[in-house]
Amino acid sequence: MQKSTPAARAPHEAPDNAARVSFYAEPPPADAEIGLDEFEDWAVDRMRVLDALDACYTRAPAEIERTMRPVLAKRLPATRAAAAATRARERVKDTFSHYILRLAFCQRPQDRRRFVKLETELFKLRFEMEPPAAKARFLSESGLGWQRATPDELSVYSAELQSLRHTDLALPVYKFPMEECTELLARRLVFVRHGIAFVPESLQTSVLAHQFAQRLHAALELLAQRRQQLADDSRLDAVLRMANEGFARDTGAGAEVATNAQLTSASLDALDAQQFLPLCMSRLYQSLKKTHHAFFPERNQFIRFLKSTGMPFEEVIKLYAAFYADFDRKKDIEYSIKHWYGLVGSRKNYQPETCALICKNVENQKPDVASGCPFQKLAPARLEQLLRAHNISDDAGIAEIKRLSADNRVHLACSRTYELTHPGDAKHEPILTPNEYFDRAWALARKNEAKGADTGAGTGAAGSSVSAAGQE
Ligand code: SF4
Repeated sequence: MQKSTPAARAPHEAPDNAARVSFYAEPPPADAEIGLDEFEDWAVDRMRVLDALDACYTRAPAEIERTMRPVLAKRLPATRAAAAATRARERVKDTFSHYILRLAFCQRPQDRRRFVKLETELFKLRFEMEPPAAKARFLSESGLGWQRATPDELSVYSAELQSLRHTDLALPVYKFPMEECTELLARRLVFVRHGIAFVPESLQTSVLAHQFAQRLHAALELLAQRRQQLADDSRLDAVLRMANEGFARDTGAGAEVATNAQLTSASLDALDAQQFLPLCMSRLYQSLKKTHHAFFPERNQFIRFLKSTGMPFEEVIKLYAAFYADFDRKKDIEYSIKHWYGLVGSRKNYQPETCALICKNVENQKPDVASGCPFQKLAPARLEQLLRAHNISDDAGIAEIKRLSADNRVHLACSRTYELTHPGDAKHEPILTPNEYFDRAWALARKNEAKGADTGAGTGAAGSSVSAAGQE
């Protein structure tokens, strides 16, 4: 039987003055009632938090906190002052969403590494945001073996401790087994005596984060071995499906039409398309115009995107008809457009593809096919060419985008591209679907247009583009 220690207490039972961080040693409570939709929404919310953190974790700590506070409050709240029931529900959500993503990311080593890195960053951020009393309580209840050095020990080892960087002896010094802080040991940041490491409080978060990462990594490896058994459990169908699709069904990508944009074939050409289309869609559009041809995966990606912007199917047919000279081909294309709009055949309501799905689908494609995500697919020199053709001339920005692409952080590369081409737009969460890119650009253009109307001044590129499209 499990020992009833504070450390063994399930996180949702934590009192209001407990820390709002966890090592997730306990799985979600078996008696918590979670609807299937909630189950998926929670996973998506946590993904959003991790993606937002991925976008900013290399910045200064104060800026990370400023960026992440509203994201956490919206997606993963942990309200200390809330009623007990709300607090308990928030904690259940935190634990559940963490475990759902464990399932999703346990299989491939690169996914495990990424998940551990981001969850560890999240742990560090949340721990740093805790008041001192909650931190102390977490340490004493965590079961991690942290103990404060006694005044006698501080006095005996004062010379050694003072020789360490980052040590302020007015603050507590902690001690625990040296195996738990090998990294700090290698960097000579802690002092060891008889197998016990003495760690100044300033390094507490680093050590905890290291412990968190090690435990999570081990748990994921174990889970990966068991996942096949879990795949037979029908209760987990939804989350495993999401995991298999790389969270393709995430973030409202399935929203039928997110803007009130009414694109037409003529307006798409008249628009400064580069202003509204993400790099992947801009590339498909240019390829269609240039080659008068579109392979199936190119049509699949572009038409589903256009459908989700609200473009009527007749306009998509016109668009392709304008570029295809071969009449028989036109008939085929017309049928397939109607098919994607759910008007013929299986009448399935096809949703736009998310970036994750676009990146996944590219694996079996021929190299000359223009579909896929350019940040994932293109060599650095070709990507740079495309970015410059996309009106980006900022050398540092281009270098950053290339670096992010080389690291396979396509969402961030795309978000940075958006920032560089839409200066002045407020910072957003990272882009996860091509339609998000379009929606933001469209909303910005309308905002600028409204501002221009208020002042009676011109609206700049964005506003004039919308007007040129005849959207009024
Ligand atoms: Fe398109 Fe997504 Fe790649 Fe951006 S990140 S270019 S929206 S697939």
